[in-house]
Parts: sequence; structure tokens; C-alpha cells
Amino acid sequence: MLTIAVSKGRIYKEALPLLAAAGIVPAEDPDTSRKLILPTNRDDVRLLIIRATDVPTYVEYGAADLGIAGKDVLVEHGAEGLYEPLDLGIARCRMMTAGRAGETWNGRRVRVATKYVRTAKRFFAERGIQAEVIKLYGSMELAPLVGLAECIVDLVDTGNTLRANGLEPRDLIMEISSRLVVNKAAMKMKHAAIKHLIADLETAAQPQEAA
Ligand code: AMP
Repeated sequence: MLTIAVSKGRIYKEALPLLAAAGIVPAEDPDTSRKLILPTNRDDVRLLIIRATDVPTYVEYGAADLGIAGKDVLVEHGAEGLYEPLDLGIARCRMMTAGRAGETWNGRRVRVATKYVRTAKRFFAERGIQAEVIKLYGSMELAPLVGLAECIVDLVDTGNTLRANGLEPRDLIMEISSRLVVNKAAMKMKHAAIKHLIADLETAAQPQEAA
């Protein structure tokens, strides 16, 4: 049995065609099913539907053999306990700093609101900027508007969310996409099945050649 951990929403939707190309089709839709363990068309493959930030934890402890998680989540979690064999190229976006449009902050010190505490601390430390990092769990865009922080670190795709809240993107921290992660023990114990799945997903994830 192979157990694959994945989060609902954008990553799940964009992973579906890749899984289908690897011969894996979930038996139910997680948006309408309340099941946390989704069977698939294959008796030897099941999906765990969990929060994005929990995917590396389930895989690291071996409760899932594999997982699909954003690079943002993996960097924040610390990916030392996992193999990351494949960039699936899905759910692409950028992790950026952002602040109020037209406003700049004093270069040496800044107060930052984010759910990516570890990544934000590292980013500012590498630039010699003293950052006071405040952990939030969502709606980061609000923080600069009400004076909680001068700056946020968040994911940006179209930039519409920032613009709608009078914010503008500033520094690119990293390009983000979803990765396949594998439990280290499972990679040894279930080597043939996992290698096969990685190869199928890799073929499916390859960008289509322009005609
Ligand atoms: P946008 O308005 O298109 O720039 O999207 C920004 C909002 O969508 C922010 O709240 C982000 O946290 C979220 N977001 C954008 N891309 C992703 C992604 N690939 N994975 C998770 N959240 C994302």
C-alpha cells in the first residue's frame, strides 16, 4: 500500500491530472466527501487529505509514504527528514515581501507579519536587517493596514490580493512550486513502487513541448 498526503484546494486540483497520468484516480472528490482517507481506483494507493502545513509532518513520520507540498511549506518545515525527488511544477507562485504602496521602511529594522516565520527571519538576517517577526495564521495583508507590521511575507500569484488591499510587492524571496516528497524509510522499503510512481509523475510533470 502506498499512502500519499495532499492538501485540498489548488495543489490537489493541479495534482489530479499528474496522478491520473500515473494511473491514480481518487474514488471521491475531497470537496464533497468528508473522508480524510480517500481510496483510489488502485487497491494499493490511497490519499490522505490534510492541511498543507501538515504534509511534511505526516511524511517525515512515515504516516504517509509520499506527499505533495509547496516549496514554501517545505522550507518553513525544514526538509532534512524527507527526500524531495521531484518538482511537480504545479501551484506556482512567488514568496515575496510586501508593504503599503508608496511607503518604504527604515532599512535596518523592520516589523514583519507572516506565517513563514523561519523563512522570513532567515531572509532578513541574510541582508543584515533586524526583523521583528510576528506569527500570523492568515490574512497577512491586514497587518500593514492597521499598524501591526510595516511589512509582510506572503505568497503572491497575480498580485490582486495585495493591490486590493493597497499593498505592493517588494523583494522576491523565492519562486514556489509544489514538490513530491518521500519518507526516507519508505524509499528503501517500497523502493520499486515509489521509483515507478516518481518516474510516471516526472513524465507527466514535464512541460509540454511547444508545437
Ligand atoms: P494573488 O491575489 O493571485 O496574488 O494570490 C495571493 C493569495 O493567494 C495569497 O493569499 C496567497 O497566500 C494565496 N496563494 C497564491 N498562490 C498560492 C499557492 N501556490 N499556494 C497557496 N496559496 C497561494
